Amino acid sequence: MGVVDSGVIHCIDPTTGQPSGEVPCTPVADVQGAVTAARQAQVDWADFTLKERKEAVAALHTAFLDRSEDVAAALATDCGRPAGEAWTAEIVANHELFQFWRSNIDDLLTATPVQLNPINYPGKRGMVRLVPLGVLGLITPWNLPVAIPLRAIIPAILAGNTVVWKASEHSPRTAALLAELFNQTLPPSVVTLIQGDGAQGAAVVEAAVDGIFFTGSVATGRKVGAVAAQRGLPAALELGGKDAALVLPDANIVRAAQGITWAAFGFAGQNCAAVERCYVHRDIYPAFLETVLAQTQKLRPMIDVGPLVTQAQLKIVSQHVTQAQEAGAKIECGGVAEGPGFYHPPTVLTGVSEDMTVMKAETFGPVLPISVYDDIEEAITCINGTDFGLTTSIWTGDLELGESMAERFDCGVVTINNHKGDILSFGQICYWRN
Ligand code: NAD
Repeated sequence: MGVVDSGVIHCIDPTTGQPSGEVPCTPVADVQGAVTAARQAQVDWADFTLKERKEAVAALHTAFLDRSEDVAAALATDCGRPAGEAWTAEIVANHELFQFWRSNIDDLLTATPVQLNPINYPGKRGMVRLVPLGVLGLITPWNLPVAIPLRAIIPAILAGNTVVWKASEHSPRTAALLAELFNQTLPPSVVTLIQGDGAQGAAVVEAAVDGIFFTGSVATGRKVGAVAAQRGLPAALELGGKDAALVLPDANIVRAAQGITWAAFGFAGQNCAAVERCYVHRDIYPAFLETVLAQTQKLRPMIDVGPLVTQAQLKIVSQHVTQAQEAGAKIECGGVAEGPGFYHPPTVLTGVSEDMTVMKAETFGPVLPISVYDDIEEAITCINGTDFGLTTSIWTGDLELGESMAERFDCGVVTINNHKGDILSFGQICYWRN
């Protein structure tokens, strides 16, 4: 984690809670200058042929793979990320991301004909041609400090945009390493890193950019969205989640328990799409709970489950657990954070109710509250009764039933016998894909 004071990010090692270095912030007054330089660079960059831009991105891809051990080390230093997670979620996954965009960008940027009404437009032809937006202002969080910026930067620069990127104050060494790779492989100011906290982030939103891509919390997203709306800037906001898993009575219990345990405790729960609520049918609840607990007990601290990245986040997680316990929930395992650093043990709660904070607010930590249902309609109402609508998973032996239920959830993505989309495995927990 990092605390900004007097223009410096004071880094703290989440595995120990001790200081781990300092990184200078970009002065707020320099942000507009970076945007002006990015605007000048964009003119030449957009004049490159797509083949030339692809060659530069290919060089970036190679540099990223060459430095992958350094990337994993930076993730450990900044976020205490266990090596297994760093490699699967931030290196292998981003290698695939590079491959995807390099393979598909020609098709995606190819102009497509439009059907014109021959009465209004006799003898005319129409085409939709994609052109660069210009300078993209990118603001990112710390929880996937490589994948989240790259998922915006790679397509943006391939399409001829330049990017001014404000990285999270909690992952500045990882950001600096990526910036080194951009500087090595791309022309100057195609991607510019801004280091700092909300002050620098707000300065990016206020600067003369052409669009904003923000990923982070709902609270900050609302502020960014309000400023962008006032300025008439297009803005994409990727915000928080309170994802639910719904386990039907015909589910494969072992598979559901393993997948949900992984999706709740991977990244120590610090994933926007982590399972934060689980609804299980009463018929299979005892066997499901037993399997979840058996799986959870196998998880090795700091190897399978890393620390929370900030002390503030550790406090929120502890508060959610304590409040739930005081309101009558039972802690089946975990529960109390005793370190090292900002580590919180994977915690399973039962006897939870919908009015508890742990069932309503984003916990963003390794806590899995399990609720029992008898009536599927009630479970669906509970799952939809949230301010968040990111993803939901359905666990069932009947794929047709699962698919027919999917559209009943008010969220962006529904998965069946799967949660999120990543390919990860976690200690002895197998993760199956359908
Ligand atoms: P955050 O909102 O605190 O910070 C995100 C970024 O915004 C940081 O770089 C921060 O410095 C910057 N920022 C802070 N104040 C700002 C302001 N006023 N104007 C502009 N920028 C400002 O979020 P976080 O704690 O870094 O990340 C965790 C959150 O991100 C969680 O809620 C998580 O669910 C969400 N998230 C969502 C997705 C998704 O794809 N939906 C992915 C990852 C994380």
